[in-house]
Amino acid sequence: MINSGKTEVLIPRCLCEIENVDNLNVDDEGFASVFVAWEKGIISELKPINIKNKKPKKILFPRFVETHSHLDKSFTFGEFPNFKSNYHEALSVNLEEHKTRSKIKVLERAEKSLNLALKNGYRAIRSHVDTYESQDNNIWDELFKIQKKYSSKLKLQYVALAPLEFWDTPHGEELAKIFSKKKGILGGVLVPPFKNRAKIKYLLSKTLLLADKYKLEIDLHIDESTIEPGAGIKVLLETIDRLNIKVPITCSHLSSILSLNNNEILNLGSKIAEKDIKVIALPLTNFWLLNRKEKSTSLNRPVAPIKQLQKSLVDVSIGSDNVQDPWYPFGNYDPFYLMSLAMPMLQLNPWERLTLSSIFLSPSRLLNLTWDGVVKKGCPVNFVLLDAGNWADIFSTNLKREVLINGELYS
Ligand SMILES: [Zn+2]
Repeated sequence: MINSGKTEVLIPRCLCEIENVDNLNVDDEGFASVFVAWEKGIISELKPINIKNKKPKKILFPRFVETHSHLDKSFTFGEFPNFKSNYHEALSVNLEEHKTRSKIKVLERAEKSLNLALKNGYRAIRSHVDTYESQDNNIWDELFKIQKKYSSKLKLQYVALAPLEFWDTPHGEELAKIFSKKKGILGGVLVPPFKNRAKIKYLLSKTLLLADKYKLEIDLHIDESTIEPGAGIKVLLETIDRLNIKVPITCSHLSSILSLNNNEILNLGSKIAEKDIKVIALPLTNFWLLNRKEKSTSLNRPVAPIKQLQKSLVDVSIGSDNVQDPWYPFGNYDPFYLMSLAMPMLQLNPWERLTLSSIFLSPSRLLNLTWDGVVKKGCPVNFVLLDAGNWADIFSTNLKREVLINGELYS
């Protein structure tokens, strides 16, 4: 049978649920040696193997979930480069790109991205899509067609990334109505300086109320900044309290709070957790763009303080953000590229549960996926299999990988 099989593998212990744990052999790097068999694309058997001096030569991961990307502008760096590599220039080049943007170009970028993501091992992606008044609204029909086209292999979620003003216009309301049927997400940017605080509060309230009216989620680019630490999240928390509504919210970036003192971060973290706001740390774009100085090297890199937020019980995911566009010139929709950079940047140990949780489990919760990403009997065979025996093999060598989608080899 084509979608049946069996193999002996290593799996990070915290990513699998297994019976007969007494016999389970877990090595010093947290890998458990297991035998896995599947039928009709579902795991039928998962058991410990414990043979002295014999260790499986493959590592198994659940297929990955990308929590934050921008399919609509990926691979535009060649045409719209940002050689200054700072936030200001990225924004200005991004707006230039809008002038020549067409439906066909966006769809080509999206499909190229999705094909790479599938090949590299992703099973789901949340992507922001630039949204503005003068945009051809038919773009959404086409994007939803692509979502459907890929749906048997990859779950795709869209966030309409618009200026907050957009959600206070008839166009904004119209799109929110469409999104209530298509399960889209409202997006926006909340980054200081806030020239007119009253207006920001008004627009944010309007966006939250619109999401509440149509039962939608919100995902904000917030505090992606080196100034006014936490200004955006503070306005957001105040506004939610004042409106007294419950809208599912994701805070993408939340970088500047890193420069608050530790107690302030933990206090903010508790408030964020209390409101059930999820956070996505995006180290690659943050490290690339923020606090860049031409003539000096600084280690001051604002990025969401993952460890403090996790300590405050905030559900934190790690995402990639931009790929080869004015905001970030590198990347390839490859989860191992992200992991191999994020670990040293953020000083995260890959053998720790909370690290792997932010890469596999929190992202699955964020996208509300039916499978939580834990490998167990009865779960779908959506795996990435690597020719590797330890973490060094994963991060230091040319990776040989196989991707299994519902038990079938993807090629
Ligand atoms: Zn982004």
